[in-house]
Amino acid sequence: MTQNVVGRFAPTPSGSMHLGNLFSCLLAWLSARSRGGRVILRMENLDTQRTSVEYAEQLMRDLDFLGLSWDEGPYWQSERGGYYQECLDKLAAQGLVYPCFCSRAELHAADAPHASDGDYIYQGRCRGLSEAEIAEKSRERAPAMRLRVSGTVGFRDLHYGWQEQDLPRDCGDFLLRRSDGVFAYQLAVVADDGAMGVTQVVRGRDLLSSTPRQLYLYRLLGLPEPEFAHIPMLLADDGRRLSKRDADMGLESLKERFSAEEIVGRLAWLAGLTDRPEAASPRELAAGFSWDRVRKEDVKLDRSSWS
Ligand code: GLU
Repeated sequence: MTQNVVGRFAPTPSGSMHLGNLFSCLLAWLSARSRGGRVILRMENLDTQRTSVEYAEQLMRDLDFLGLSWDEGPYWQSERGGYYQECLDKLAAQGLVYPCFCSRAELHAADAPHASDGDYIYQGRCRGLSEAEIAEKSRERAPAMRLRVSGTVGFRDLHYGWQEQDLPRDCGDFLLRRSDGVFAYQLAVVADDGAMGVTQVVRGRDLLSSTPRQLYLYRLLGLPEPEFAHIPMLLADDGRRLSKRDADMGLESLKERFSAEEIVGRLAWLAGLTDRPEAASPRELAAGFSWDRVRKEDVKLDRSSWS
């Protein structure tokens, strides 16, 4: 019997959705639905300073408008802190968690080694602190919590093929909880995808380099691993990564000029799924969806064709 596919939308409600977010949601939806699967909606609002319920509500209206339905949720990460703490405790019980007192300035110093995605590679400065040192430093400031990593993690991405990382060399001991108590994305996303029975993660390839870290966590927490399919990024016409600042490429603005099916049809065409940017509903596109047709290179948006 084939396993039932469970996909998910995992947006961070920190602004209005732009085309890049919609592109991820559309492909996640098509990939799950084309195999008769279900979709879960989870709001990644761990950082309550940067996210808002209003944005989350707008996001749900936007998904509805486009015809991207979900079957379960929304779940709110802001309400799941107790569960993330249990996961952190499980890792700590394996002797793999330690407090880190490094400041932002120390971590981001110009001479610190950086990974290809621009993130710093933690050099293990607080890895060997003694109990006495920890007690003393704790009087000065609250520590962040890090996970000790070792070994190499590889996986086969559904879209980009075999990927591998040497964790100590390529990312270093990574954060599980920030010093202000906010749980790190890496821990929460694994804890949740695992608990929610997600079998397929579809998301932008900016997160491809996080996946080995996440698989490492799945294994340590004994959670079932989903399959991963990363997708190309939508870029602004000057090659920059599209961001929430590109208001004219936001759905609020596009809605004034295009119907839902025109937007969906253009995104499907940009993904490589169709030959022309013709209006289409997600449901119509699901029938012909195949990963083989999805392009691998990033897509530069031609603003003039969206005006
Ligand atoms: N919440 C993340 C974002 O909006 C996505 C996380 C994921 O798909 O794993 O970028």
